[in-house]
Parts: sequence; structure tokens; C-alpha cells
Amino acid sequence: MLYCENCHKLCEDAFCPECGNESLREVKEEDYCYLTLCHERTGDMLKSMLSDMDISCILLPYGDGARNALGLSLGGYKVYVPYPRYEESKSAIATLTADATEELRGTLLANRDRWQIRSRFSARRLRKLFGLSKKDEILPHIGWAVERSPRIADRGRNSTCPYQGHDIAVTVGEKTVWFNSVTFEITV
Ligand SMILES: [Zn+2]
Repeated sequence: MLYCENCHKLCEDAFCPECGNESLREVKEEDYCYLTLCHERTGDMLKSMLSDMDISCILLPYGDGARNALGLSLGGYKVYVPYPRYEESKSAIATLTADATEELRGTLLANRDRWQIRSRFSARRLRKLFGLSKKDEILPHIGWAVERSPRIADRGRNSTCPYQGHDIAVTVGEKTVWFNSVTFEITV
């Protein structure tokens, strides 16, 4: 397996898909490899999960420079693990993602009576997304999406939400519907 020294990325081809570097070298046992980019909260969970597996990982803060200038956390991490533990760490992420989806699905469905569409504008966009007419109720379709979504993810703090809510992305096929984790407002 080849390794890019700029990005610490394992590369299947002769060049790095991240930075285009063509002078790759063979990966060494002691190399830390780029595993994933993830949100703060996921990063903290991933870190403790990896440490339970006795895998030492490195988390580098990554994200919005404007937030950094304001003294806020950057919102995300780039995660690196030692090459010999790379494949195991990959499966840890898969488990973590699946767990998060079920947990978030449970929370959303338990609060179904609080769901509200944020604005008329959002309602119009949701109708368009689900191919609905003006007479159709939107919420049952959103319920359908939440029940079937293979991936529901916490995308982190919504910077405009006064209640410190997080953006929860519910993905079904090409469609993504967003919930606020505190107000249960729905947008597209
Ligand atoms: Zn690179």
C-alpha cells in the first residue's frame, strides 16, 4: 500500500486523490494514516471507542477558520490511526455510524408530536423534494423518511440556533431532510 506524506493518506493508486502528490512511498508500520473527517461529537465517541480497542489515535481540529477566529471550537476533527490498526479502525467507524443512526432515529420518532416545518419556504421545498401537491400533508412523508433512512447523522451545532440545537441530517436516497435537535424544526 502506498502512502502520501502530505496528507498521511493511504493511496490505492500511484497518486494521492487528496493532493495529487505523485511521489508516494510504501507505507511503513509506524505511519499514522488518515482515517476520517468527523464531527466533534463523533470524534470524541470514536476516540473512546478506539482507545477501548487499545488503538492510539490522533485527532486534529479541523473546520471553519471563522469559528476559530471567534475562539469557538473548529467543529470537526481529522482522525489518524497507526497503519497496522487501520482496517480495524475502519470497522469501528461503521459500527459507530450505525449506532448513531438508530439512536437518532429513536429520538426523532419519540418526539414526533413536536415536529414542525420551519417556514413556508421550507414547506414549499419539502413538497418539491417529496413530489407532493399543495393538498398533501408533508409530515407523514417525513415520518416515512425517518423510519426508513439508512443514515441519520448529527452534523453538529447549528450556529444560528439560540437553543444550541444540532443539525440532524436524515438521508434517504438522494434526499436529505434536516431536523433541529432541540426545536424539532424541519428544513431542507
Ligand atoms: Zn496527499
